[in-house]
Amino acid sequence: MNKQITCIICPNGCELSVEWEEKSIKNINGALCKRGEEYVTQEIQNPKRTIASLVKVNNGEIPLVSVRTTKAIPKEKIFDVMEEIKKLEVNAPVKINQVIVKNILGLGSDIISTKFVEKEQVTI
Ligand code: SF4
Repeated sequence: MNKQITCIICPNGCELSVEWEEKSIKNINGALCKRGEEYVTQEIQNPKRTIASLVKVNNGEIPLVSVRTTKAIPKEKIFDVMEEIKKLEVNAPVKINQVIVKNILGLGSDIISTKFVEKEQVTI
């Protein structure tokens, strides 16, 4: 099989052409450096993505906090991780970079907050 892939590792954005057979890389053209070849090899053999989402906040000044994975996870696990994230709730206050879930689904990536959420101010 053949595919054109844009390398996203650096701003050069090299257009790479890759040829493979049953996940075995046969040929890579167009990479200006080794990192591009590694990126394309991973894209073909074990594509990974970081994901961003929202988690419900209890007693917060806002109802949701933005979160992300600390490391890229296998693409085929994205749906499972999103299902786990949907079940989460966290109590305010939420600090930035607070670990919400350690090692989600045993994938070696944590779910962390990317925003500070203050506790709701109750006025009497
Ligand atoms: S192949 Fe190398 S130079 Fe080209 S975009 Fe990828 S990292 Fe950058």
